[in-house]
Amino acid sequence: MELLNNLINEKSINYKKFIGKFTSIKCDLFNIKIFPLVPLYITSYCYEDCKYCNFRVNNNVLRKRLNDNQLIKETELLIKKGFRVIELVYSSDPEIKITSVCNHIKILKKTAIES
Ligand code: SF4
Repeated sequence: MELLNNLINEKSINYKKFIGKFTSIKCDLFNIKIFPLVPLYITSYCYEDCKYCNFRVNNNVLRKRLNDNQLIKETELLIKKGFRVIELVYSSDPEIKITSVCNHIKILKKTAIES
C-alpha cells in the first residue's frame, strides 16, 4: 500500500508512467485473485457522442457531478453492500482534472479504511 500511496501523491507524473506503475503495483497486490468490480459514476458530463450511451453529449438528460460528500456517501453504500473494488467513471468530463482524480482516490481510500 505504501507504493500505491507514493504513486498517488507524486506531484507530476505522465499518464503512461502512471498506468505502468499502477499495473505493476496492482499485480503485486492482487496476484491472480478475482474481485467483483462496481462502477461509480463521478460525473455524467461528457463531450463524446457514443450512440449507445445515455450520457452522450447530444442527449438532453440531467447532468450531475458528485461533490466530495456525495462521493463519500456513495462509497460507504457500495462498501456496505460488500464491494471492495470500485471503478471510478468520469465520462469525458472536461472539468475533471488529474488532481480531482487523485483527490477522489484519496477520499475512497479514507472512506474504505473508516468503514
Ligand atoms: S460517457 Fe463514455 S460511452 Fe458515454 S458518451 Fe461519454 S465517452 Fe461515450
